Amino acid sequence: MSVGLIRDGGTMKIYVNRVPEAGIRGHARYDPTTMDMDRDDVHLREAFAVEAMIVKADRELVVTAQIDCPLSFTCARCLEEFPATLKTHAVFSYKVQPTDVVDITDEVRQEIILAYPMVPVCQPDCQGLCGVCGQNLNTVSCGHQPSR
Ligand SMILES: [Zn+2]
Ligand SMILES: [Zn+2]
Repeated sequence: MSVGLIRDGGTMKIYVNRVPEAGIRGHARYDPTTMDMDRDDVHLREAFAVEAMIVKADRELVVTAQIDCPLSFTCARCLEEFPATLKTHAVFSYKVQPTDVVDITDEVRQEIILAYPMVPVCQPDCQGLCGVCGQNLNTVSCGHQPSR
């Protein structure tokens, strides 16, 4: 059921004049190569999905989006890479004319980047690296005195 929407390489383009009174559901898939969302310690390596409910009210288009984004994080303590899915819920609203075509890609990108953890940690009790020999203390016990 994607009347009102077209797929353009998987992203969601919303033709305002085709959104029915009752609203419509939309689905989009975003490709990592086009999203440019990487941070030094966060990498998007797989495509991710956005499910949206699109409602038009007068001159306003409201898109309620559920974003499920699998990411690779680098743990700030042990420097191991670990996968985690960032799930976030967002509401975007646009002032529109009937002839407008709305693309939510920029808002989706923003929303995900804002939800990135400040300091990614692979597990709450990650032991980090040994300050003496640099080994990963989650997997080895080298016997050095902890430096903190
Ligand atoms: Zn860690
Ligand atoms: Zn050590």
